Amino acid sequence: MTHSSTNAKTTSFRPIIGIDLGTTNTAAAYIYKQSPRMIQLKNGEHMMPSVVLLDPSDKVIVGDDARSALVAMPNRTKAAVKREMGEETLISLGEKSFTPEEISAFILKEIKRVADKQLGEGEKEAVITVPAYFTNQQRQATKKAGELAGFVVERIINEPTAAALAYGMQNLEENSHIIVYDLGGGTFDVSVVEMMDGILEVKASAGNNQLGGEDFDWLVVDWLSEKMIASTQIDPREDIRSKARLKEEAEKIKEKLSYEDTVNIAVPVVTVKNNSPIGLDATLNRDEFVKLIEPLLLETEEKLRQVLSDANLKATDIDEVLLVGGSTRIPQVHQLITSFFQKAPKKDVNPDEAVALGAAVQAGLKSGALSNSGLIVTDVAPFSMGIAVLDNMRSRAKPGAFHAIIPRNTTIPVTRTESFTTSEDNQTAVSIEIYQGENDWVKNNYFLNEFILEGLPAKRAGEEAVDVTFRYNLNGILEVTAKSASTGNEMSVTIEDAIDRSSEQAFQDSMTKVEAAYEVEDQDLAEELNLFDFTEDVPGESEEPLEELITDAKEWKKRFSKELHNCDGVSKEELEQVMMLIESALNSNDPALLNKAIERSIDLAIDLEI
Ligand code: ADP
Ligand code: MG
Repeated sequence: MTHSSTNAKTTSFRPIIGIDLGTTNTAAAYIYKQSPRMIQLKNGEHMMPSVVLLDPSDKVIVGDDARSALVAMPNRTKAAVKREMGEETLISLGEKSFTPEEISAFILKEIKRVADKQLGEGEKEAVITVPAYFTNQQRQATKKAGELAGFVVERIINEPTAAALAYGMQNLEENSHIIVYDLGGGTFDVSVVEMMDGILEVKASAGNNQLGGEDFDWLVVDWLSEKMIASTQIDPREDIRSKARLKEEAEKIKEKLSYEDTVNIAVPVVTVKNNSPIGLDATLNRDEFVKLIEPLLLETEEKLRQVLSDANLKATDIDEVLLVGGSTRIPQVHQLITSFFQKAPKKDVNPDEAVALGAAVQAGLKSGALSNSGLIVTDVAPFSMGIAVLDNMRSRAKPGAFHAIIPRNTTIPVTRTESFTTSEDNQTAVSIEIYQGENDWVKNNYFLNEFILEGLPAKRAGEEAVDVTFRYNLNGILEVTAKSASTGNEMSVTIEDAIDRSSEQAFQDSMTKVEAAYEVEDQDLAEELNLFDFTEDVPGESEEPLEELITDAKEWKKRFSKELHNCDGVSKEELEQVMMLIESALNSNDPALLNKAIERSIDLAIDLEI
C-alpha cells in the first residue's frame, strides 16, 4: 500500500496533512512550528465546497466553481458524494460515470495539489476524518479515495475525535468531560470525550449520517414549493433545474436566518410556464424556520441522551460542549445545548476548522512533528463486532445469533479473546462468520468475512474449545484469529484494506481513470491560489471585470466578518478598517478602489494568518 518513492525529498518529517473530507465542505491543515495551521485554498479560503463538476470539455473542476455549476449543469455536477461512500453505485457526470471513491478522489486531489504547492511536491501522507458512525466499508472507501488521489493514507479518524484534539491542543491542563456536537451539511455526530492530563479518550459516540444542514435546506425547499403551489398551482420541484435553484435559495435563506429574524424572499424566476417566468415572493421568519427543523433538532437531542447513557454520564457531568460544523451557527442549536446542559457551548473553536486542525494534530503526533505536545489519543470502536453462534438461550438451539466480542464503544486499539466450544459430536471444523452491528441476530447485521478452521480432534459436543481473538486497531482494521485449544492450530483473516487485493487491477484502472479525468494545467502558485494577483486567472476578464471584483470584495467582507469575533485589539481594528474600505469601494463601484480594497484584504489576511 505504501508507494515506492525514489524522488521523495529528505525532510526531517515526512509532510503529513490532516483532511476534513466533509459532505459539504473540505478543509485541510498541517503542523507548522508545533501547532496546526489551515492550508489556504482558492481565494485564501480555509475550506472548499465538496462539489465536483465535469465541464462540457470533460475537464474535472472541484470546489467553488463546481458548486456554482450545480444549478446550470445539474447532470454534470455531484455534491454530497460522502453520503454514498461505501456503496456500490455509479454516479454519472455528463457521459461518464464514476464510483463515489473516484469522485471523492477528485476532491482530495485538489487538496493534494494545493498542499504540494504550499508544502512542497513529493509523497504525502494524510490523516482523513470520517463520521464516528461510518461503517467499516465506508471507512475503507474513504481510505481508497485518499489513495486514488495519490496520498499515503496513514489513518482514518473520527471527526469528533479530531475536533476534541484541536481543542486538546489549546487546553492541555484541563481535566474534563467534553461533548462534541457536530452538525454539518450531511451528518450529525455526537461524542463524549474525556480529557485527563493531556490524554484524550472518546468514551462514546452516536449520530445519524443522514441528518444535517442539507435536510434543513430541503425542508425550506418544501416550504417554498408549497407557497408556489398555493399561488400558481405549479410544483417547482418537478423540474430538476428549478428544484436546484430553490435549493440554492433555501440555503441562503437558512444561513441568513442565523443572523436575522426575518428574511424576505424575492426570486424573479424559479421556473417558466408558457414562456413566461414564474417567480416567488415570500417571507420566512426564524420561528417558522425553527418549527420546520424542530423534529430534526429533537433527534439530535435524543442522540445526546443516548451518548450520555452509553458513557454512563449525566448532563451535569459534562464540563464543556464543543460545537462543530456549519449548522451549529443556527441560534436554536445554541439554545438546545444551553437548555440541555444548563450551560452555554464553548466558543473558542472555529466550527469550520476544528476537524481539519485536529486531523493535523493527529497527523503531527504520527509524524513526530508534535511529539512534544504531551497529547495521546485513544478512540472507541464505533460498532460491535463479533461472530455468529448458536442461540442456546431457548430450549432448542437456533443458529444465527450474534455474539459481540468487541462491543460498541470499547476503547481501541483492543484485543479480546473468547472461548467457544463445538456444538455437535465429532465436529472437526468450525465456521467463523464475522459480523458488525448491534442486532441480536446476524442476519440483521453487516457481514464482514468468514473462514473455516479445520482439523479439530473429533470429540463429543462441547468438549473441544476454539479461542477466537479479535484485534481492532486505530485504523479500523480488524484481525480475527481462531485457534484450536487442544492442537494449537490457527487461522486468521484481516478485514482491512480499501484495496481488496483480489481487485488490485480494478484499483489501478480506477487510478488511471481518475488521473486521466483530472488534468490541471500547471499554473503559478500565486495565480492558482488567487492570492496575489486575483484577476489573472479569471477567464474572459475583460468582459466582466467589475462583476468579478465585486464578487471578490464581497467574499472578503464575508470572510472578515466571520473572523471578527475571533479577534480583538489591534487585529480587530485593522479588520474593521479594511471592512470599511471594502464597503466604500463596493458603494463606489469603482474598479480601481475595489482593486485596492482587495489588495489590502489580501495583505491583512496574510498578516493575521486568517
Ligand atoms: P460538512 O461537515 O457536512 O462538510 P460543514 O460543517 O461545512 O459541513 O457545514 C455545512 C453546512 O452548514 C451547510 O449545510 C451550510 O448550509 C450550513 N451553514 C453554514 N453556515 C450556516 C449558518 N450561518 N447558518 C446555518 N447553517 C449554516
Ligand atoms: Mg464536518
